[in-house]
Amino acid sequence: MSGARYIPIISLDTETTGLEPAIHAPWEIAWTTAIHDTAERTVTLMRRREFTLNLPSDVRTDPVGLEIGRFAERWSPGLDGWQMVEWLRVDVDELRDESFLSADEAPAAVHFVGAVPQFDHRMLERWLGWSHRLWHYHLIDVETLCAGRFGMTPPFDTVELTQLVLPGWDDSEKHTAAGDVRWNLAMYAAAYDAEVVDP
Ligand SMILES: [Mg+2]
Repeated sequence: MSGARYIPIISLDTETTGLEPAIHAPWEIAWTTAIHDTAERTVTLMRRREFTLNLPSDVRTDPVGLEIGRFAERWSPGLDGWQMVEWLRVDVDELRDESFLSADEAPAAVHFVGAVPQFDHRMLERWLGWSHRLWHYHLIDVETLCAGRFGMTPPFDTVELTQLVLPGWDDSEKHTAAGDVRWNLAMYAAAYDAEVVDP
């Protein structure tokens, strides 16, 4: 094994009004920060957040996209994007500080863990001005990670992959931002034979 012992990670997911970040925007976001201790094989959870977001005035909506996330049932006015970004900044800073305290050597950069994470990352950049330099440029896709680890070839079927990696996983919270964050972390931990620890 190479690399740092303590890896700060943030698992983040958005529910959006469609699939094109240029015109569609996030309406729900959740994240959990965690430290992956590669020696102890633990992923210890830190901050957990979940917000609905107010929609920008120039946003477009894709009815199919809204249906998938059950927008009509689940959305209510929440934070403006800039308010949410303040929380995200605070939590990423705290995560970085925590890994700095844990590490004997130079601390590892914060890594963004998600399912097709470039999608969520582009949404943050486009609508919220989030900068890529605030976390490592290697975005970690749990599906690719687990497909390689558990021997599934592309194209990946998410349901099959979940059954393979997390047998018996309850996916009733799929397509909610917080539910997808929990799944991301469980997949990430499985890929490294680690246990998710919720202190
Ligand atoms: Mg999602």
